[in-house]
Amino acid sequence: MLTLSVIVPCYNEEEVIQEFYRRTKDVLLNLKEAEGFIIFINDGSKDKTRYILDHIASVDNKVKVIHFSRNFGHQPAVTAGLNNCTTDLAVIIDADLQDPPELIPDLIETHRKEEASVVYCVRKKRKGETAFKKWTAKMFYKTMNSMSEVEFPRDTGDFRLIDRKAIDAFNKLPEKGKYIRGLIAWIGFKQTPFYYDRDARLAGETKYPVKKMLAFAKKALLYFSKKPLMLSISLGLAAVIVGIAYALWIWLGHIFGYIITTTGWTSTIIIIIFFGGIQLLTVGVLGQYIGVLFDEVKGRPEYIIEEKVNFDS
Ligand code: UDP
Ligand code: MG
Repeated sequence: MLTLSVIVPCYNEEEVIQEFYRRTKDVLLNLKEAEGFIIFINDGSKDKTRYILDHIASVDNKVKVIHFSRNFGHQPAVTAGLNNCTTDLAVIIDADLQDPPELIPDLIETHRKEEASVVYCVRKKRKGETAFKKWTAKMFYKTMNSMSEVEFPRDTGDFRLIDRKAIDAFNKLPEKGKYIRGLIAWIGFKQTPFYYDRDARLAGETKYPVKKMLAFAKKALLYFSKKPLMLSISLGLAAVIVGIAYALWIWLGHIFGYIITTTGWTSTIIIIIFFGGIQLLTVGVLGQYIGVLFDEVKGRPEYIIEEKVNFDS
């Protein structure tokens, strides 16, 4: 029989954990195709989350708990879950019941039918989220997809099922700043969407205030796009072209007499524009090299082999 871990990052979730456990345990007990475990990652909660989790673990030995020494963030919490799970399958899910655990059997079913390594859940409806959050999310994915090396599925969070092959590939990635949904898209293998309606948070407040959301978006951009580095090149080039055109215009103006200026003004302006452009341009070139170094420092493998045929025969 297959084994499955449900990976749950928790930060100050005392109001929802019991109910999350009740509903999820119910689902896991009724699973026919897999034996289910739960891994809770307590991401440095300051409320009673810690004691509630310890209590659940003391009465249910299929519940594992990882406590962080402080709040490291949602992504490190999920990463710890993936690093520490030994099962065939894992489902990443939020503790606040926005993502219904009742969908787990459908995810397994999709994984089996489609032979997909990753089944990522796409939100059709997002209840209880502000128009602002939905709009910023939409703009973010639009921008990211025009800038990134990998395609980011829209309206997709970290709620997904991933199999052992994908977990192992993920666990081999050495970079420290992990943007999980991007990395899982990046590792490849067969990935299939699963459409669902996202509920409102059961209780409590979002643990993703605007500041954390911005930091999250910045991480995605810096780790998955080198296009911002191109900006100074384009700007520099534009400045140089404008500088040259302007120089020509003024020079012709002097010859044909349609511009009369104080001596020295023309050359000063031209020099400022031109050298400003050159500086941006060279900064941009440096940026390209930094981009290459950046990729190296991250140390992602150049490729991941899924299968080798006839090598060891
Ligand atoms: N979370 C976490 N560490 C943090 C912030 C959030 O482990 O620093 C957890 C949180 O407990 C929840 C999940 O990440 O299980 C998603 O957070 P939340 O529901 O607040 O985000 P939203 O759904 O509002 O984007
Ligand atoms: Mg939530």
